[in-house]
Amino acid sequence: MSDLSQNFSHVLVDGGLVIVPSEKGWELLRHRGTFQNRSIYPAFANRMSLWRFNFVGDHANEFELGLYLPGSSAPRWLLLVLFKKDSGELQRVHLERVTCSKCGAQHVIANPTLVDLYLGVTNRVEANNRAFRWPRVRCPNCGAELPRFAIWAEPLTRKKN
Ligand SMILES: [Zn+2]
Repeated sequence: MSDLSQNFSHVLVDGGLVIVPSEKGWELLRHRGTFQNRSIYPAFANRMSLWRFNFVGDHANEFELGLYLPGSSAPRWLLLVLFKKDSGELQRVHLERVTCSKCGAQHVIANPTLVDLYLGVTNRVEANNRAFRWPRVRCPNCGAELPRFAIWAEPLTRKKN
């Protein structure tokens, strides 16, 4: 049972609990399908989730993957992508694909402003508003403003393997 404490870090992000499993922890979850008596389905169930697993795995210096409950009575855990700030703190983000409206280049971006990310957080409006104070990054290709709020961007074509 020491598996539990070793493989599942409990972290507070915006005052809300986020579980950050180790690699072994994810393996255990995949096998069990539940964590603390709540389903982790659909964290592994769809193509988008698998894409996020792979992406975060390829960008381990910049992102982490966790689980959160979108409310204390939520029946299941949801997957949460966390951007690692320089300060060591974690920022909740959605990974999205965008196309620059000026040069047409496609990028993966990290967007911290979506309401869903802050469900279950006590001061969620405040946490959500705080996300909008991040400096926005611009198109890595041409420097134009991106069509979506982004605190991080990388050209989609760049493969890291
Ligand atoms: Zn561009």
